[in-house]
Amino acid sequence: SVKVQGLHKSFNGQEILKGLDLEVRPGEIFVIMGPSGSGKSVLLKHVIGLEEPDAGEILINGEPILSPEVMEHHRLAMVFQSGALLNSLTVGENVGLYLSEHRLKPPREIARIVAEKLEVVGLKGQEDRLPSELSGGMKKRVAIARALVIEPELILYDEPTSELDPLSAVVIGEEIVNLNRQIHVTSIIVSHDRDLAFGVADRIAFISEGKILAVGTPDEVKRNSEPIIQKFLNADFK
Ligand code: ATP
Ligand code: MG
Repeated sequence: SVKVQGLHKSFNGQEILKGLDLEVRPGEIFVIMGPSGSGKSVLLKHVIGLEEPDAGEILINGEPILSPEVMEHHRLAMVFQSGALLNSLTVGENVGLYLSEHRLKPPREIARIVAEKLEVVGLKGQEDRLPSELSGGMKKRVAIARALVIEPELILYDEPTSELDPLSAVVIGEEIVNLNRQIHVTSIIVSHDRDLAFGVADRIAFISEGKILAVGTPDEVKRNSEPIIQKFLNADFK
C-alpha cells in the first residue's frame, strides 16, 4: 500500500500541498484528478522520492520512503508527464537504460526484455529510432515501456494520455488495466482525462488547493456535490 500522511510542501514561500492524506491499496488503480497547478505532479514526485516533504510522511508497505534503497526494494517506476527520454540515446537504449547502467543483465538478455516491453506498448521493432523522430504519443509509450523493465510493484503515471489521440488513449488505458490484472501492479495515475479516469479507476481522488477534496469510487465521485468537482467533471473542454 501507499500511505501519504499530512504532506506539506511549499515552494518559494507558497504552500502547494497543505496537509494531504491519501491511502492507495495494493493492486488498485487509483486516479488523481484536479485543476492544473493544484500539486498533482508534486505529489507524485514525493511518492517516488524526488521531492522531500516539509512535513508529513509517505509510507510504502509501511516503510517510510526516505532512502533510494526503499524505492528500489519496492520497485517503484514513474512515467513522467514529459516522457523524460534521453535524446542522445535510441529508443531501445532508453528502455534498457536502468538494466544496462546497473549491469543487472547481460546485453542479449536486456535486448530481449527491451523488445518484449516495446511490444507491450505497441512499438515492436522500434528499438533503433531516436526520440526526436517520434510523436508525443510514441514517446509516452516508450516511457511506459521503460517503466516496465524493472517489473514494478507500483507505477506512477503523470498524464499518461495527454499527448495521445483518442484511440491511442484508449489503448494505453487498456494497457494500464492489463498490467494490473497480469502482474498485479498498483497504479497511481494523475490525469485530466475523464474518459481514462472513469474507464479504468477503482477509486478516484480529487485534489484541490493542496488537499484531497474527495475520494471514492467513480460513481461516488460523480455524485459528489462539491461545486468544483461538478464543474470539473462537466466542463466542456478537451
Ligand atoms: P498540471 O495539471 O498542469 O500538470 P499539477 O497539478 O501537476 O498541474 P504541479 O506541477 O504539481 O501542478 O505544480 C503545482 C505548483 O507547484 C505550481 O504552481 C508549480 O509552479 C509549483 N512547483 C512545482 N514544482 C516546483 C519547483 N520545483 N519549484 C518551484 N515551484 C514548483
Ligand atoms: Mg502535472
